[in-house]
Formats: sequence, structure tokens, C-alpha cells
Amino acid sequence: MDTSALNAMTVDVEDFFHVSAFESVISPDKWHEFKPRVDANTRRLLDLFSQYDVKSTFFVLGWVAERYPELIKEIHAQGHEIASHGYAHRRATEQTPEVFFQDVKRSKDHLEDLIGEQLTGYRAPSFSIGYDNEWAFQVLADLGFKYSSSTYPVKHDLYGTPDWPRFAYKRKEGIIEIPIPTHRILGRQTPIGGGGYFRLYPYSLTKFLVNSYHKKEQQPYSFYFHPWEIDQDQPRMTGASAKSKFRHYVNLSKTYGKLEKLLQDFSWGTMRDVYNISAD
Ligand SMILES: [Zn+2]
Repeated sequence: MDTSALNAMTVDVEDFFHVSAFESVISPDKWHEFKPRVDANTRRLLDLFSQYDVKSTFFVLGWVAERYPELIKEIHAQGHEIASHGYAHRRATEQTPEVFFQDVKRSKDHLEDLIGEQLTGYRAPSFSIGYDNEWAFQVLADLGFKYSSSTYPVKHDLYGTPDWPRFAYKRKEGIIEIPIPTHRILGRQTPIGGGGYFRLYPYSLTKFLVNSYHKKEQQPYSFYFHPWEIDQDQPRMTGASAKSKFRHYVNLSKTYGKLEKLLQDFSWGTMRDVYNISAD
């Protein structure tokens, strides 16, 4: 694959207290007790993207959009794609189809009102569409989404569909699913899509993995991360497990610099552009 070809840059717009790693210590009724940092962190990202002329897809949590409508309008005005990350960051696996429908609809309607445009994309919190809730794709299709990026074909303690397709494919529900990229070695897939692994790995390893993905798979790569991942000054949570804390805090101070290199070394665009998603 030509390395100048576009790869998809994606950001899940949520705050440090929304993440699934902390859900056992911070329930949604406690969210208001934290001072949000998502607005400032996302604006730092917008500046960085503009510096390298990168367009990205922002999967926005409805909770954030309700509190920061100007931020969402600004992201959109700068030519990025607005997509949905649901409303309350509940995993799809923990919802009934009806509750899932209402959560996603609430975020979709609100975002569409803000930007005056139809959304085409959705990403489930913690890649939580899998073997036990395939019905979620039908709900997304019913809501008018054209694509989802909600599956991670790896084995992980919190999510993962190792037996499902590794590359973008059209599902029987009519929706295109764009799985998070994986590196396949010895018949097993390891995660290379971003987030905690991007913070954990030295940048040289990420660069090597993206290049080898292009060469081996001949597919566009897609990358995800969160605004709080460039925020080393965020308050530290107490009460969470050592594993959750490690996942959340590892190498926060280095992420901005690594991200800058990633933007320079590869070409980036929105999900809609990279995967040719049309609105109708
Ligand atoms: Zn999320």
C-alpha cells in the first residue's frame, strides 16, 4: 500500500471520569462532581490537527455535547467529521436493545441539531458490540447510521471479537463495520489501534506496526485516542484497581509528542473519507 494513502484519525470525545476503566469507582451520578477538562483538551487537539492540516472523525459523547455545544460546533466548523459515541458511555453489552436505542438516539439527535447535518458514524463505548449483542447493528441501522467502528478483533478482558472480520465490511443489517486494526502474528491478533497501547509502546514500535500493517494487509489503518490522553495534569483517581490505573495513566506525558510524530509520518483523514461512506 502506498504510504501516502489516507488513514483514519479518530478521537473519542469524553472526559477522564467517563472511561470504562473507572466505571466501578465513578458512577454517572458522580460525574458532576468532577471539573471537566474535555473542552480544553479537545481544543488543544484541534490546534494540533490544524497545524498538520489533518481532518479527523470525532466520536462525541452526548453528555459532552450537551455541556459544550460551542466546542462541537467549532470541531465541525474546522472541517472535521462529527460522529456519535452514545450519550452516557454505557457499554452496549449492559443495555437492552430499547435502552441502547434511546441512548444512541439522544446523542444523535442532539449532535445533528447542533451541526445541522446528518451523522453517519457511531462508535460504542469500549468497543462493546460483540458476540452477545449483534442486535446492536440493527438498532444502528434503524437509527440511520451508515457505519460503526465498535468491534475490536482481539482477546481482551473487557471486550473483543477475535473471530470476527479484521477489516471494514458491510454487514447484513446494511451498515459498514470498521473494526479497530490489529497485528496478526502466530495466528493471534494483538491490538494496534491506539489508546493505551499507543501510550505504552515506544513510538518507533507504533510506526513499525503501522507500516507493517499497510504492507501486509493492504488496508487503510485507523487510529483512536481520547482528549484526556494528552492531559498529564488530570486529577488522579483513588479507589480504582492497579490495572485500571496503569491503563489510564501510563505515559500520559509523552502522548502529545508521539501523536505529533504520528501526524507527521502518515497521511490522515476522516472515517467518512477514508472508507468512502456516503450519506445516502
Ligand atoms: Zn469511550
